[in-house]
Amino acid sequence: MDAWHEAVFARENIRGVQLETWHHLNGCRMWLIVERDTINHEIHAIRPAHEGIAKILKNRTNMKSAMKSAIKPGTKS
Ligand SMILES: [Zn+2]
Repeated sequence: MDAWHEAVFARENIRGVQLETWHHLNGCRMWLIVERDTINHEIHAIRPAHEGIAKILKNRTNMKSAMKSAIKPGTKS
């Protein structure tokens, strides 16, 4: 119980860049790891919190770029 309380409520209040877990509740509902500067709210990086989702998205991106390079100009698809 103490460990749970510690993990949920007793987080460090970092001045500067920290990793945060966000839930895009009103959008894609994805859990994200956001690297945010607490001083100016600048977002440095965002990635899916779940490794499986990250792999799927990476594969999709790879597939898109593979398809783009497979389609040569002047050829019919
Ligand atoms: Zn989203």
